Amino acid sequence: MKKIDYIKEINRLKKEKKAVILAHYYQRPEVQDIADYKGDSLALSRIAATTDARMIVFCGVHFMAETAKILSPDKKVLLPVKEAGCPMADMVTDMSLKKYKEENPDVTIVCYVNSTANVKALSDVCVTSGNAEKVVSQYKGKKLMYVPDKNLGTYLKEKFDLNMNVWNGFCCIHNEVTVKEVQNAKESYPDAQLIVHPECQLEIVKMADFVGSTGQLLNYVKKSNCNEFIIGTENGIIHQMKRACPNKKFYLLTDNLACYDMKLTTLKDVYDALQQEKNIIEVKDDIQENALKALEKMFEYTDN
Ligand code: SF4
Repeated sequence: MKKIDYIKEINRLKKEKKAVILAHYYQRPEVQDIADYKGDSLALSRIAATTDARMIVFCGVHFMAETAKILSPDKKVLLPVKEAGCPMADMVTDMSLKKYKEENPDVTIVCYVNSTANVKALSDVCVTSGNAEKVVSQYKGKKLMYVPDKNLGTYLKEKFDLNMNVWNGFCCIHNEVTVKEVQNAKESYPDAQLIVHPECQLEIVKMADFVGSTGQLLNYVKKSNCNEFIIGTENGIIHQMKRACPNKKFYLLTDNLACYDMKLTTLKDVYDALQQEKNIIEVKDDIQENALKALEKMFEYTDN
């Protein structure tokens, strides 16, 4: 059988089908390299919405492709691996959130973008790990429920002294980091700064020199005068950090910082999705409309 040159074929199909390829920072390095844009999930969906592409291929997990569809309802959105999901997003269902809202009608629902379209549609406002502080600080004094990430929620609640309950969800990658692992890494690399994602537990976040979304961590290492960093987020970002700062050193906080779902997508999957136009993401009209309202509420606070 003739061997397929996936990079060449993806580039050919991309032009032929007027597609834009997005890759989250946690994707495999070779998948990041083939993408037109790499970044955090919402940033990618927003960029794709401004392009005149007919099709979006989202190399990431299901909720990310859904968000792209919400922001670009007229474009065809493909997820190369249909099984690529996010365990944290699945920790809050629309049924359980509906029940909570019925029992607590006076509570404002703040929803992390790492959630399904159905959950976004039931929420009042969305946040990302990069803008959550800016958005939730507008809601001081109100009764809030934050879904689904208890770690980012607890961090925000404490920082802004919010009247906020947090859902019991978590990222099974970031949540597993332990204090002992941080202590070991700091001992091994005493000159390195510790930078972490706020999906880590609060006790880990408090030990860090800098806390931010994956994109913010990347910007931080670019601008910092420090030359060594212990990275407390998924290992995929180190590919971009090394690219941006070839003379700096990056140490992964623990070998466990690898997301199974994010690593499912291969170049072959991207090629197959593009060629067959398969794994099309659909979002029902009423869900799209309501989820878009929660996203637009966030943009009101972040874009002005
Ligand atoms: S890293 Fe965590 S939040 Fe991101 S997709 Fe994987 S499980 Fe979900």
